Amino acid sequence: MSLEDDLGDWRRSHYSSELQGMDGREVTLMGYVSSIRDHGNILFVMLADKDGEVQLVFKRSEGSEPSAEPGAGSSSPSPSHLFSRARMLREHSSIAVKGIARSMKNAPRGVEVIPREMRILSLASSAPPFSVYSRSLPLDPRLDIRAVDLRRHYLRAVFRVRHNLLKAIRAYLDERGFLEVSTPKMISTASEGGAALFPIFYFDREAFLAQSPQLYKEQLTLAFEKVYEIAPIFRAEPSRTNRHLAEAISVDVEQAFVDYEDVMRTLEGMIAHVIGYVKERCREEFSMLGVDPAIPELPLPRYRYSQLIDMLKGEGLRIEWGDDFGTEHLKALGSALKGYYFIVDWPASMRPFYTKVKDGEGRDALSESFDLMYGDLEVSSGSTRINRKDELMARLKRQGLKPESFAYHLTVFDYGMPPHAGFGLGLERFLMTITGVENIRDATFYPRDIDRLVP
Ligand code: ATP
Ligand code: MG
Repeated sequence: MSLEDDLGDWRRSHYSSELQGMDGREVTLMGYVSSIRDHGNILFVMLADKDGEVQLVFKRSEGSEPSAEPGAGSSSPSPSHLFSRARMLREHSSIAVKGIARSMKNAPRGVEVIPREMRILSLASSAPPFSVYSRSLPLDPRLDIRAVDLRRHYLRAVFRVRHNLLKAIRAYLDERGFLEVSTPKMISTASEGGAALFPIFYFDREAFLAQSPQLYKEQLTLAFEKVYEIAPIFRAEPSRTNRHLAEAISVDVEQAFVDYEDVMRTLEGMIAHVIGYVKERCREEFSMLGVDPAIPELPLPRYRYSQLIDMLKGEGLRIEWGDDFGTEHLKALGSALKGYYFIVDWPASMRPFYTKVKDGEGRDALSESFDLMYGDLEVSSGSTRINRKDELMARLKRQGLKPESFAYHLTVFDYGMPPHAGFGLGLERFLMTITGVENIRDATFYPRDIDRLVP
């Protein structure tokens, strides 16, 4: 005979968060067993559901279990039977109980439940090598059973913050008249040229996974002016860092009739709004995470690229104008500059081909571009884009790209492409800055990197 029961006609009457003031009332709870304490004649079982936990108290001498309804699995009327079944439980087992709620000062949220009947819906046959209460643990054994790892309270808090962060981003952009769009993820050419693309089979041709929605979101400003997309980007990043994924979620924003200064104001406004929103909504989560994110004061500091190069040189670091910031440079920037700040006016040669040149020529040209940083972490990149076809073709060629490969894009510029600007923000990196998560793999549900394609 199976030890497990079917759900049958049982349905949850309350979540663990809804038990206050239920003293003496019968409730039906469902969830999983997060911990068990066995005191011989009394068994304390923590039942966890999506909202939290409640303590179940099984006593050898208490409780009753009426006969099971037909087809609803095994149970028997005797209290000792209920108790012995409770002793078979293992952590992570999925259960349902009907019982009586009772006020109890020392229990979580001041309530515990005395079960009368129980259905064991799925008995766990394995135990993970970690407790759901643990905080920091080696990554790989956890990722191998990620679905179970995500039961850890620490990660649940991270992803509840993520959920609210997404809601706040959408609300902020919707309120400002941006339209949410979706662009193809299977594409014929690189959006930024060259590196870091995943090739795929597309019927009888080679195609690629999109490394960004860049060109499509620019095109969409022609019809909609203000657009945003929240979707995956794919980058064949061969490096093993704490800030790169092969598949990440990007918040992409693009707007017509503005320049990079305008979109920087939109972006910093969004950062401050979102942090204010999640601070308010996720108090319990932040207390679990042990962080208290500060709403940044606006405007955020803006440093010119050349200014920071001089600063780093002044500190004795080796770097020349035109070099990208390497790990040691970012470290130095991170210890000098705390919180969020912008790096603006990057050399044009360092930015993608669609970036508008600000002034200067050739190798010395600056661009209307920015990165949003948080200490040493890049969170977003943006710029004013080129909206003239001849200029765009010239820049494509200068960066060694073939205008023919971008014909589908260039043709749009024959139809009065408005001036426009925008940015792409990495959702996981933004979440890291708010939650204090140190490895980007814990800011996404199922991380993809050079070593990992499962689960
Ligand atoms: P980095 O220099 O850190 O590799 P990038 O400059 O190549 O980033 P962009 O092309 O500017 O990245 O993309 C815009 C934003 O998307 C970045 O600021 C970052 O927040 C996010 N992002 C880019 N690549 C990744 C990645 N591999 N994993 C996670 N987030 C990423
Ligand atoms: Mg960038």
